[in-house]
Amino acid sequence: MIHLKTNEEIQSIRESAKILAQTHGEVARLIKPGVKTKVLDQRAEEYIKDKGGIPSFLKYNGFPYSLCISVNDTVVHGFPGEYELKEGDVVSVDCGVRYKGYHSDSAYTYPLEGASTEVLNLLHRTYDSLYLGIGQAKAGNRIGDVGYAIQSFVESFGYGVVRELVGHGVGQQLHEDPEVPNYGKRGKGPKIVAGMVIAIEPMINLGTKNVVQEKDGWTIRTADRKPSAHFEHTVAVYEDRTEILTTHEDIEKNYSYKWRNKSR
Ligand code: MG
Ligand code: MG
Repeated sequence: MIHLKTNEEIQSIRESAKILAQTHGEVARLIKPGVKTKVLDQRAEEYIKDKGGIPSFLKYNGFPYSLCISVNDTVVHGFPGEYELKEGDVVSVDCGVRYKGYHSDSAYTYPLEGASTEVLNLLHRTYDSLYLGIGQAKAGNRIGDVGYAIQSFVESFGYGVVRELVGHGVGQQLHEDPEVPNYGKRGKGPKIVAGMVIAIEPMINLGTKNVVQEKDGWTIRTADRKPSAHFEHTVAVYEDRTEILTTHEDIEKNYSYKWRNKSR
């Protein structure tokens, strides 16, 4: 069942999303070779709580951390821990905030300096595919239009679109209906209408689309151990426009490696 949101509810999600964006910005300051991924998680939890929010992921279905940190061949749901980031890594940071009873959800994948051109291209194109998907998330379209836009773009480069994990509605629950796959057919799936708030989150693999789950019950890796990228925004649909409630601006301001400026 899809819960459509009132403007008041969207305002709460917008406020949640602002804390989330700032949290990502704080994490971005810390990302560099030598930092342990648990340090990023600790900073995010502390910052969210300081702002009066609740980390959405902490204890969600038993997940033990505030961030999912997924390095290199980990697609999503990686555990923060003792691992020290190093030159050439790609690290996906996924975070959610609950504020005034409403969640917001967004993710960003960072290349560290030294990442190969092949990997930078994967990140550029996954980033671009997120905005192509958002461009189709408008009233009157269907969910399949979003997935089609993402899939057709990234597959043209030979990348794999993860099937097992998808975007979703966002509201009083972190994960609501509808599911928002990163693959699909034009004109298929639930109709997109005003009041929908959805998280769009392409998870795109350099190689095979196939993934495996680790024994910890969470960590999802690529089956061929090649790198993966993940970018996510929470968006609200109105009759005449779609608003991106989350933002990556704080990340891009605070992260020292200006990789988006690199030509592709
Ligand atoms: Mg997320
Ligand atoms: Mg999500």
